[in-house]
Amino acid sequence: MSGQMSGDRNQQLFERARRTIPGGVNSPVRAFRSVGGTPRFISKAQGPYFWDADGKRYIDYIGSWGPMIVGHTHPKVVAAMQGALERGLSYGAPTEAEVEMAEEIIKLVPSIQQVRLVSSGTEAAMSALRLARGAAGGGKGRRKIIKFEGCYHGHADSLLVKAGSGLLTFGNPSSAGVPAEITQHTLVLDYNDPQQLEDAFKAHGDDIACVMVEVIAGNMNLVRATPEFLQTMRRLCTQHGAILAFDEVMTGFRVALGGAQSIYGIEPDLTVLGKVIGGGMPVAAFGGRKEIMQHLAPLGGVYQAGTLSGNPIAVACGMATLKLIQEPGFYDRLSANTARLIQEIVAAGQAAGLPFCGDSVGGMFGIYFAASVPGNYAQIIATDKNRFNVFFHAMLERGIYLAPSAYEAGFVSAAHDASVIDATLSAAREAFAAVSG
Ligand SMILES: *Cc1c(COP(=O)(O)O)cnc(C)c1O
Repeated sequence: MSGQMSGDRNQQLFERARRTIPGGVNSPVRAFRSVGGTPRFISKAQGPYFWDADGKRYIDYIGSWGPMIVGHTHPKVVAAMQGALERGLSYGAPTEAEVEMAEEIIKLVPSIQQVRLVSSGTEAAMSALRLARGAAGGGKGRRKIIKFEGCYHGHADSLLVKAGSGLLTFGNPSSAGVPAEITQHTLVLDYNDPQQLEDAFKAHGDDIACVMVEVIAGNMNLVRATPEFLQTMRRLCTQHGAILAFDEVMTGFRVALGGAQSIYGIEPDLTVLGKVIGGGMPVAAFGGRKEIMQHLAPLGGVYQAGTLSGNPIAVACGMATLKLIQEPGFYDRLSANTARLIQEIVAAGQAAGLPFCGDSVGGMFGIYFAASVPGNYAQIIATDKNRFNVFFHAMLERGIYLAPSAYEAGFVSAAHDASVIDATLSAAREAFAAVSG
């Protein structure tokens, strides 16, 4: 199929990459395994666009999987980083900029009273989990954690888990190299099923250290939590002395200035952040109630550290991004643009006679080849992957770069203006014809 073709240079680079890098990529989804065809090797980016190795321009709807909310190479971000570059790359000693960033995060996310910066979402989630285990139930060594099918919290061993055979049995590793002993304390429940939470706490209540959840899931395409699901979670955690950790690595500063927790009006005990707070550089964070955070070394017994944590160049990039998203009307415009994209793309898909729907929150969206918006992992898996793949390649050919998988969310930036969205919609009308024809 012509949509799977790309110019010579991408193909050459892919072949060359595969000789020295496993699968040719440094993170699996980049390899296009789910959609087939040749991954595009990106050479530069600007605003809502990036260009591949053949010089072909794409409208970018992955935004580095979330971080690029102000668009690529925003002049204020670039200037902030250039200023920082001249003052040194890394010190291994504290800086004023880190304190400013902590203050900024705390100002924007009221449930966070103290915060620690790290370098990736994986590291932040892993550290939050260790902290929760070290602090829950008065620090008396609770071991069990709850996560939900379809939520991703990075690739720490105890979080790479799929559901066990029975509903309340503990999970099995979802990756080779993770011993079952490590995942035996992780219970994997269905997303948006409050009754399973009730049952799990009834069975294991006082052993549960932490419930970790994506408040609006963005790693099984986009799936919103129901308010009842989150309210049940909050109530049970409080009742049983378990720590509620919201993984907002994707949703933080993406769905709203205060994150998904501000939309639902529910305060977690810990919040995990990443992606947007680095603005495209490696910054992530975990934070929450002071009495929990004080269990961290050097104050408490929970160890956590990082050579490049709070790196000055990365923090300069993140801070410049956090300033830009606070400009008046930023989220109103971003949400309205994203909502229009999704409304009109859904209308076009349905006009082509396809079972097709979509959803968006702030600058994050989901499109689904299904009759109704999915509410959990099983419903996401049941969407029409083959149709998505045809659509993906038809869009790619027309210069629109969507996430190369039916199971990933999409991202709009402030640089995606009305004309960029119009161009996307006219490509989509043609692409739907390819899918239905
Ligand atoms: C991306 C993501 C992570 C992992 O972050 P990395 O920086 O890729 O390690 C964790 N949780 C969620 C919800 C994410 O979207």
